[in-house]
Amino acid sequence: MRTVLITGGSRGIGAACVRAFAQAGWRVAFLYHSSDSDAKALVAATGALALQADVGVSAEVNLAAKQALSHLSHIDALINNAGVSLTRQLQDTTDEEWRHVLDVNLSGAFYATRAVLPGMIARKSGRIVNISSIWGMVGGSMEVAYSAAKAGLLGFTKALAQEVGPSGITVNAIAPGATRTDMLNEFDEDALRRIEQETPLGRLCEPMEIARCALWLCGEDTAMMTGQTISINGSRVIA
Ligand code: NAP
Repeated sequence: MRTVLITGGSRGIGAACVRAFAQAGWRVAFLYHSSDSDAKALVAATGALALQADVGVSAEVNLAAKQALSHLSHIDALINNAGVSLTRQLQDTTDEEWRHVLDVNLSGAFYATRAVLPGMIARKSGRIVNISSIWGMVGGSMEVAYSAAKAGLLGFTKALAQEVGPSGITVNAIAPGATRTDMLNEFDEDALRRIEQETPLGRLCEPMEIARCALWLCGEDTAMMTGQTISINGSRVIA
């Protein structure tokens, strides 16, 4: 049975990934940080293994990856999904805020990937999917730290795809547009309506639409696709 480790699996896009992979017959382990009750409910619904870890702390990720590996026996796919946003003008961004956004969105992917790669390289097979953002592609005003972290994730994706291709491992990114999760809670109804109006397809993305793409990127149909970014955004790109 194929196995997947998903970071930030307790809510939103990560939780949709847990459900999508479990429904497709994969054995699933996921990392979460603070949403204990959401994680427990998801475990009950899917049979996945939940592991508490801060993805921004390498020792915690290493320990959780070790526990996931001993539970799953091997890891076929890794979804680097955990993320936090920050809406702040650059001159008002503190060192701590900057580091936190970079730690969770970018360093977390590095720590989790580094922890699972040796097994993938030994088996000459693996799939890595990094959840970036349209802001990583075009940049978002008032979201410089977040945009920088998500753009970093795209560079990480392209470089790692080159490095581990000879080991039979693919590395791709998904860059979602505004997706209906808690991450949009800071927007009021009017702001959400404006985003929908700016989107040619006229609505927000649904978490499951991102999750199904991640599942596809871990399947046989995409075995020759690597180093790519797929943007699911309803054609909403603001330059
Ligand atoms: P969300 O609903 O806020 O969920 C975020 C997830 O990340 C939660 O499971 C959370 O776990 C986890 N997380 C946060 N900090 C963590 C940490 N330090 N260690 C471990 N896990 C941590 O957000 P989402 O919208 O699903 O976002 C998922 C990914 O999609 C993120 O990378 C985000 O940047 C990206 N994205 C989202 C949108 C959007 O519009 N929603 C658009 C583009 C890209 P706990 O709740 O357990 O703390």
